[in-house]
Amino acid sequence: MADVELDAPLAVFIPRARAFTAEVSALDGATMVLQASPDSNDPDAALQLLAEQQDEGPQLESASIVVSGGRGLGAPEGFERLERLAALVGGTVGASRAAVDAGWIDQSRQVGQTGVTVAPDVYFAIGISGAIQHLAGMRQAKRVVAINADPNAPIFRHADLGVVGDFASVLDGMLDVLQGQGEAQ
Ligand SMILES: Cc1cc2nc3c(=O)[nH]c(=O)nc-3n(C[C@H](O)[C@H](O)[C@H](O)COP(=O)(O)OP(=O)(O)OC[C@H]3O[C@@H](n4cnc5c(N)ncnc54)[C@H](O)[C@@H]3O)c2cc1C
Repeated sequence: MADVELDAPLAVFIPRARAFTAEVSALDGATMVLQASPDSNDPDAALQLLAEQQDEGPQLESASIVVSGGRGLGAPEGFERLERLAALVGGTVGASRAAVDAGWIDQSRQVGQTGVTVAPDVYFAIGISGAIQHLAGMRQAKRVVAINADPNAPIFRHADLGVVGDFASVLDGMLDVLQGQGEAQ
């Protein structure tokens, strides 16, 4: 925590994505290239937008919903269900290191101490035990939903909502409901 006093006409702050609300989240998934015009007396004209690029999906670091899978998925095919869930809720897919080490998903998707740090509104931990190194990358999530076959899995101690069960049957039920809602609209 810091109190900062500025005497410069323009300052650029680069906080960790989604660690703060409103203005930072407005940049989700987008890159903006700005040109500063320090001579301008009009604050609205002080920054000129040169280019804006929208990404196809949310970046893992700045996603508001992250759907992560671990060794409990059992095979790379398990991630297909997670991709479908992420698409339906407007999220993006993450993973534990065990899933990455198994070669089921690209290393860029790894959440944790030696991966990406995320701070989404909702973090799904699916077939993830909740090792300290994984928690290090997602403990800033505002809500955690855990799905795990083991009722004693440590991840449940950090979850706002926990579902004990086989991930495939739990997700199939969720996907049916979400797809039904989408078709009804
Ligand atoms: C220096 C160092 C750095 C590390 N950095 C990271 C890191 O950045 N990120 C990271 O994630 N890990 C990291 N690790 C590894 C970490 O310690 C754990 O080994 C890893 O997070 C475990 O991944 P997992 O939860 O997917 O696997 P596991 O611990 O094997 O857990 C699998 C879970 O799946 C559940 N499960 C099994 N079958 C099903 C089913 N059918 N349905 C639902 N649930 C099921 C099990 O009950 C279990 O809880 C690091 C380790 C070290 C030493």
